[in-house]
Amino acid sequence: MHEMSITKSMLEIIKDEMDKSKVSQLRSVRIKVGELTAVEPDALRFCFEASTKNTPLEGASLEIEEVPLKGKCRRCGNKFRIEAFVSRCPECGGADIEKISGTELDIVSIEAE
Ligand SMILES: [Zn+2]
Repeated sequence: MHEMSITKSMLEIIKDEMDKSKVSQLRSVRIKVGELTAVEPDALRFCFEASTKNTPLEGASLEIEEVPLKGKCRRCGNKFRIEAFVSRCPECGGADIEKISGTELDIVSIEAE
Protein backbone atom coordinates (compact mmCIF):
# COMPACT_ATOMS: atom_id res chain seq x y z
CA MET A 1 0.00 0.00 0.00
CA HIS A 2 1.21 3.42 -1.09
CA GLU A 3 0.13 5.04 2.21
CA MET A 4 2.09 2.61 4.38
CA SER A 5 5.46 3.47 2.85
CA ILE A 6 4.61 7.17 3.10
CA THR A 7 3.73 6.72 6.76
CA LYS A 8 7.01 4.90 7.40
CA SER A 9 9.19 7.59 5.90
CA MET A 10 7.10 10.26 7.61
CA LEU A 11 7.58 8.60 11.00
CA GLU A 12 11.33 8.39 10.43
CA ILE A 13 11.47 12.14 9.88
CA ILE A 14 9.32 12.74 12.95
CA LYS A 15 11.48 10.51 15.15
CA ASP A 16 14.63 12.26 13.92
CA GLU A 17 13.14 15.65 14.69
CA MET A 18 12.01 14.52 18.13
CA ASP A 19 15.47 13.11 18.92
CA LYS A 20 17.06 16.37 17.88
CA SER A 21 14.73 18.38 20.13
CA LYS A 22 14.99 15.79 22.93
CA VAL A 23 11.26 15.28 23.25
CA SER A 24 9.49 11.95 23.56
CA GLN A 25 5.76 12.62 23.59
CA LEU A 26 4.23 13.30 20.21
CA ARG A 27 1.05 15.38 20.32
CA SER A 28 0.18 16.10 16.76
CA VAL A 29 1.51 16.16 13.26
CA ARG A 30 0.25 18.41 10.52
CA ILE A 31 0.90 17.48 6.93
CA LYS A 32 0.05 18.76 3.47
CA VAL A 33 -1.02 16.28 0.87
CA GLY A 34 -1.35 17.29 -2.75
CA GLU A 35 -4.12 15.87 -4.89
CA LEU A 36 -1.63 14.47 -7.40
CA THR A 37 0.02 12.24 -4.79
CA ALA A 38 -3.13 10.06 -4.90
CA VAL A 39 -2.94 9.62 -1.14
CA GLU A 40 -6.19 8.70 0.57
CA PRO A 41 -6.37 10.73 3.79
CA ASP A 42 -8.42 8.03 5.52
CA ALA A 43 -5.96 5.31 4.54
CA LEU A 44 -3.08 7.50 5.65
CA ARG A 45 -4.73 8.11 9.01
CA PHE A 46 -5.30 4.39 9.42
CA CYS A 47 -1.66 3.58 8.63
CA PHE A 48 -0.47 6.28 10.97
CA GLU A 49 -2.55 4.88 13.84
CA ALA A 50 -1.49 1.32 13.10
CA SER A 51 2.21 2.25 12.90
CA THR A 52 2.26 4.27 16.10
CA LYS A 53 0.30 1.77 18.19
CA ASN A 54 2.30 0.51 21.17
CA THR A 55 5.09 2.97 20.46
CA PRO A 56 5.89 6.23 22.27
CA LEU A 57 4.12 8.00 19.40
CA GLU A 58 0.77 6.36 20.08
CA GLY A 59 -2.16 8.71 20.53
CA ALA A 60 -0.79 11.55 18.43
CA SER A 61 -3.25 13.18 16.11
CA LEU A 62 -2.64 13.48 12.42
CA GLU A 63 -4.01 16.56 10.70
CA ILE A 64 -4.15 16.34 6.95
CA GLU A 65 -4.48 19.38 4.78
CA GLU A 66 -5.52 18.45 1.28
CA VAL A 67 -4.11 20.63 -1.47
CA PRO A 68 -5.99 20.77 -4.77
CA LEU A 69 -4.15 20.39 -8.04
CA LYS A 70 -3.63 23.79 -9.62
CA GLY A 71 -1.83 24.92 -12.70
CA LYS A 72 -0.56 28.08 -14.25
CA CYS A 73 -0.66 28.67 -17.97
CA ARG A 74 2.76 29.63 -19.33
CA ARG A 75 1.16 31.38 -22.29
CA CYS A 76 -1.29 33.74 -20.59
CA GLY A 77 -0.46 33.41 -16.89
CA ASN A 78 -3.93 32.23 -15.94
CA LYS A 79 -4.09 30.18 -12.75
CA PHE A 80 -6.75 27.51 -12.53
CA ARG A 81 -7.83 24.31 -10.90
CA ILE A 82 -6.89 21.25 -12.94
CA GLU A 83 -9.84 18.89 -12.98
CA ALA A 84 -9.78 15.28 -14.06
CA PHE A 85 -6.22 15.77 -15.28
CA VAL A 86 -7.31 17.86 -18.24
CA SER A 87 -4.38 20.19 -18.40
CA ARG A 88 -5.41 22.83 -20.87
CA CYS A 89 -5.81 26.45 -19.98
CA PRO A 90 -9.51 27.36 -19.84
CA GLU A 91 -8.66 30.94 -20.88
CA CYS A 92 -6.52 30.51 -23.99
CA GLY A 93 -6.54 26.75 -24.58
CA GLY A 94 -2.76 26.58 -24.12
CA ALA A 95 -1.29 23.21 -23.20
CA ASP A 96 1.91 24.49 -21.61
CA ILE A 97 0.84 24.27 -18.01
CA GLU A 98 3.05 24.49 -14.99
CA LYS A 99 1.75 22.64 -11.92
CA ILE A 100 1.87 25.09 -9.03
CA SER A 101 0.23 22.99 -6.33
CA GLY A 102 -1.07 19.53 -5.76
CA THR A 103 2.20 17.59 -5.88
CA GLU A 104 3.32 18.27 -2.32
CA LEU A 105 3.63 15.78 0.48
CA ASP A 106 5.14 17.73 3.34
CA ILE A 107 5.23 17.72 7.09
CA VAL A 108 4.08 21.20 8.04
CA SER A 109 4.57 20.98 11.78
CA ILE A 110 5.23 18.58 14.62
CA GLU A 111 3.99 19.20 18.11
CA ALA A 112 5.77 17.25 20.81
CA GLU A 113 7.00 17.65 24.33
ZN1 LIG B 1 -3.66 30.39 -20.93
